[in-house]
Amino acid sequence: MPRFDLHCHSTHSDGLFAPAAVVARAVERGVDVLALTDHDEVSGLAEARQAAIAGGITFVCGSELSVSWGKITIHVVALGIDPQNPTLTEGLATIRSGRSARARRIADSLAAAGIPGAFEGAMKYVTSERLVSRTHFARYLVETGHARQMKDVFKRFLTRGKPGYVAHEWATLSEAVGWIHAAGGQAVIAHPGRYDITATGMRRLLAEFRDAGGDAIEVLSSSHTPAQYAEFAAHARAFGLRASSGSDWHGPEESWMDLGSMPEMPAGVVPVWKDW
Ligand code: AMP
Ligand code: MN
Ligand code: MN
Ligand code: MN
Repeated sequence: MPRFDLHCHSTHSDGLFAPAAVVARAVERGVDVLALTDHDEVSGLAEARQAAIAGGITFVCGSELSVSWGKITIHVVALGIDPQNPTLTEGLATIRSGRSARARRIADSLAAAGIPGAFEGAMKYVTSERLVSRTHFARYLVETGHARQMKDVFKRFLTRGKPGYVAHEWATLSEAVGWIHAAGGQAVIAHPGRYDITATGMRRLLAEFRDAGGDAIEVLSSSHTPAQYAEFAAHARAFGLRASSGSDWHGPEESWMDLGSMPEMPAGVVPVWKDW
């Protein structure tokens, strides 16, 4: 069975390695099929694809789209997209366009909580002029001793009810699915176990996603416990959605799981790669 990793990040969003370096690490780690899925972005895919050809592994063009679903933010991974499709690239540009103003508001909120200079501080960690994210603020908060490591930052900052959190409107669920399909890709709910919703809310999300044409959910994710692998495998079966697997790797020491280190897909689900 080939080893799949269908979710990871590079310096084109909030990862620490350039696309070619992500691919080189995936090759070293024994990944056979890799998707690079930078947040709201496709600009790293050409470099990654070249590196994958050189390294002899299969490459899948991807992205991870930020979506607002009611009051919460959902991530939808796109797999097998044409990165040049104008519907998709215009949609991604729309999502990215709010990020700079949002970063200013995040910095204002941190300043009000007694942490000045966070905008400039976060910008030191930004590696693509096209995209600033909470991760860049998180790195600054670690640097300045407000949290010990990346895993702790989001418990105290940058999430709902905490300093540095600001509400933001991303794309809608049906827009994201529509753009991904326009570009010939499959739409996958990323790390469903991470969302702060009730069991009823999760069923409503999955039903709405399926009805919007969504294709799959991540069953295997570094955000999930083994119990959640089974839980989301059951959800995939119940909702007629396929199952995906991704480490969501951002860099050494910032990730729960290294590239390609997910277990085997549980039995009884249809993998997202079934028809590839
Ligand atoms: P943004 O798209 O700007 O809202 O930033 C979201 C990114 O922050 C995610 O893709 C993760 O890389 C990171 N992040 C969010 N929540 C957490 C968390 N609880 N622990 C670690 N990283 C997180
Ligand atoms: Mn991220
Ligand atoms: Mn995500
Ligand atoms: Mn991700």
